[in-house]
Amino acid sequence: MRIFSGIQPTGRKHLGNYIGAITQYVAGQDRGDAIYCVVDLHAITVAYEPTVLREAVYDTAATLLAAGLDPQRCIFFRQGDVQEHSELCWLLSAVTSFGELNRMTQFKDKAGAQRDLVSAGLFFYPVLQAADVLAYRAHEVPVGEDQRQHIELMRDAAERFNARFGETLVVPEARIPTVGARIMDLQAPDRKMSTTGGTPQGTVLVLDEPKTIAKKIRSSVTDSGSEVRRGPDKAGISNLIDILAAVRGISPEEVEGEFDAAGYGAFKQAVADAVIDYLAPVRERYHELRADEPELERIMQAGAAKARAIATETLADVRRAMGVGPVRPRG
Ligand code: ATP
Ligand code: MG
Repeated sequence: MRIFSGIQPTGRKHLGNYIGAITQYVAGQDRGDAIYCVVDLHAITVAYEPTVLREAVYDTAATLLAAGLDPQRCIFFRQGDVQEHSELCWLLSAVTSFGELNRMTQFKDKAGAQRDLVSAGLFFYPVLQAADVLAYRAHEVPVGEDQRQHIELMRDAAERFNARFGETLVVPEARIPTVGARIMDLQAPDRKMSTTGGTPQGTVLVLDEPKTIAKKIRSSVTDSGSEVRRGPDKAGISNLIDILAAVRGISPEEVEGEFDAAGYGAFKQAVADAVIDYLAPVRERYHELRADEPELERIMQAGAAKARAIATETLADVRRAMGVGPVRPRG
């Protein structure tokens, strides 16, 4: 069983990324052949600075390694180092529907947030994402809830490819956690916590100091009631319940039961304490790992060599099936 996922080096990663995606990456190493990459080519679809991007790749890499990705047990690399992703993106454009791309809610949200250029790359983003996954013939893609629509699109592209050019690609499945798949912004609990689109006070960063985490959680927006239970009119409290459930590895019902009689103040404090304990070891390891850039670079280069070996085979099959380039005997 092969697992693939990518994470953007845009800004600092947050609690939503950690709960929704990163913990699943770590667990995936025990469940199958896991392949993960830092998707620098996706980060260029919004306004960015080249020097900042290069640094942010190291920040994200160190965060993932601190969280428990082990280069001995997974393939870990930087997307831009494996050029096959870009070529496959273009080849897959032949089997990607414009109408479907046009319905992607992430594009609509992010396009609306751009101050000047809305790049074509932002629109084409899901095709590159499809290439990322399909290049490795991955069976499973661990992601948060917001990526469901993109996974559907890549499944459609793979099915269309196989129907049109012959059985070549694996149609992947999304793996979305049951609790914590959509952590909301603490200040705007109708929006997902986001690296690029959230409020600073409403976004708990993996690397935040304990004091900062406590402050953000204690000042999170809640309703005017006092009951610790989930409900459509209780977005803020529902979010905190999900966070505590995910961090403790229990169900939201258990959290509701435990804090039945507690007020919001005590509940928020308990969430803050749990999140602080949860992230502290990651932050400590991060600083050690981040200090050694040559080592991070070495790890990602070694990973890229392994990734390339898989992706070049897929690319050769795709080109052959599509009639691109000369006929070459298989193998
Ligand atoms: P942006 O909002 O700019 O897209 P991001 O915060 O979504 O940034 P990504 O690198 O795009 O960060 O996402 C990495 C992974 O984290 C993806 O699998 C995504 O589904 C997951 N994820 C992102 N935000 C959340 C969230 N609020 N709750 C749970 N999972 C999330
Ligand atoms: Mg995202």
